[in-house]
Amino acid sequence: MRNPVVCAFEFEDKELPIAEKQLLEETKNAVLEWKNKLTQFTGDEDSWKMEYKVFPKEKQHDFFAEYDCDITIYFERDPLLVVEVFAGYTDIYPFGLSEILILYLQPIFSDEVLNSETLQNAEPIGLENSIDLYVGETIRHEFGHALGLDHLPKEAISYDYKNGIPVGSSIMIDDLDGLPWNIVFEITEYDLRALVNLYGEGGFKVPFSLWFLNIIGYLILGGIIVLIVFLIIRSKRKRSA
Ligand SMILES: [Zn+2]
Repeated sequence: MRNPVVCAFEFEDKELPIAEKQLLEETKNAVLEWKNKLTQFTGDEDSWKMEYKVFPKEKQHDFFAEYDCDITIYFERDPLLVVEVFAGYTDIYPFGLSEILILYLQPIFSDEVLNSETLQNAEPIGLENSIDLYVGETIRHEFGHALGLDHLPKEAISYDYKNGIPVGSSIMIDDLDGLPWNIVFEITEYDLRALVNLYGEGGFKVPFSLWFLNIIGYLILGGIIVLIVFLIIRSKRKRSA
């Protein structure tokens, strides 16, 4: 894999005009944060670079355009979701391509959250014009998938208090059973270690020798297919002769 190119498309939401700016901003921040944290964690400036590109919305349905994106992120409004913390999907295709769909929504809180002191003391004004508070976590989580991370195994799920707020042990937690309602998720050392284990010290940069091996692999595969086709044609000819 080379340094991933992350692409997002501009979009328009007439009912929630702030959505576009906020989501594109969050996406940019998420890419930067993964990159910076990986760089800091490994002390390696070169191996974890990612590029972030934004395209105008008319380009989204232009099937002939060549974008050269490894990870593409789309946004869709989904008011049907009720209480869903991680409201996003990631599809991973062969050759390292992936697509992320972020389903954003206006803030909807569970009864527990609504009855909590913080929210009762908070000014609810303005909330109807914002998107849900967890969208930043959702984007970081989906990015983790796009980079190759799976969900955290149940036994590794835990949390720690930071300034009185419970923080999950990984951004890749999907099972919220038994966790405090006000838990927040961030990219943790656990996630960074998992990625370093996955890619190795060289990060996203694959040494030339591996590219070369890849090409040889494809050539061998192509050769086998040609051979099979050849054998099938030959056996049919024999039968008809
Ligand atoms: Zn997930």
